[in-house]
Amino acid sequence: MNYIQGSLIYEGKAKRVFACENPDRVLIEFKNDATAFNAKKRSEIKGKGRLNCKISASLFELLELNGIPTHFVELQSETFMIADKINVIPLEVVIRNIATGSLCRETPVNQGTILNPPLLDLYYKDDELGDPILTEGRLKLLDLISSSQMEEIEKITRSVNKLLKEYFDGLDLLLVDFKLEFGLNSLGKLVIADEISPDNCRFWDKKTSDPKGRILDKDRFRQDLGGVIDAYEEILKRIEKDSSNAT
Ligand code: C5P
Repeated sequence: MNYIQGSLIYEGKAKRVFACENPDRVLIEFKNDATAFNAKKRSEIKGKGRLNCKISASLFELLELNGIPTHFVELQSETFMIADKINVIPLEVVIRNIATGSLCRETPVNQGTILNPPLLDLYYKDDELGDPILTEGRLKLLDLISSSQMEEIEKITRSVNKLLKEYFDGLDLLLVDFKLEFGLNSLGKLVIADEISPDNCRFWDKKTSDPKGRILDKDRFRQDLGGVIDAYEEILKRIEKDSSNAT
């Protein structure tokens, strides 16, 4: 199914969302723009949009196959996906298997500590406020979602983590942490939205021991390590190799 690109509904840091002739669907374009530290660091990385679009499509398909609802419908091209039109819940749901990043900057937890059970952190999605971390009390105060929806979000996030951690382990990758976003589709159903790619997941190569060399995600951009596209290509290559083995 090919939809005609309508008007721009929303432009974010890494994606544009367009209307199309189906009012329950949108077209999402994955851009080459890279940002970090709440867009204080910016760059354009040729080929990133295509890689993130294809990686996200494969991972959304994997989730759907395992009964986890997402906004993904199908790919329209290499950089455009068709998705359910949703009302985005302004929450960033981060789940961590290994301590790194903001957890180690903001707490005394040592880099590399295994987090068992995985740690779930909630942030309020608001660029102007710098996506602040939420306590249980603040979440209640903001009244963004009901407590049963919050329970469902936590349950879905933990199952996605379990599934993806095992999946990537089979591709010789450690899934260190990732962020999910959620929304409600036109039927009022809770679905995973946004993307699942090296922009919002951390992957460490199990075959490389060097702590910088093993990084295969946006930390290469955040830490000026170079080789961003090569790292994203490697993730897609392993996913595609796995799916060709499965068929
Ligand atoms: O920065 P921090 O260590 O909290 O990030 C945890 C995980 O969430 C990382 O995988 C990062 O890529 C992702 N994240 C994100 N968008 C944000 C903040 C974090 O995708 N605004």
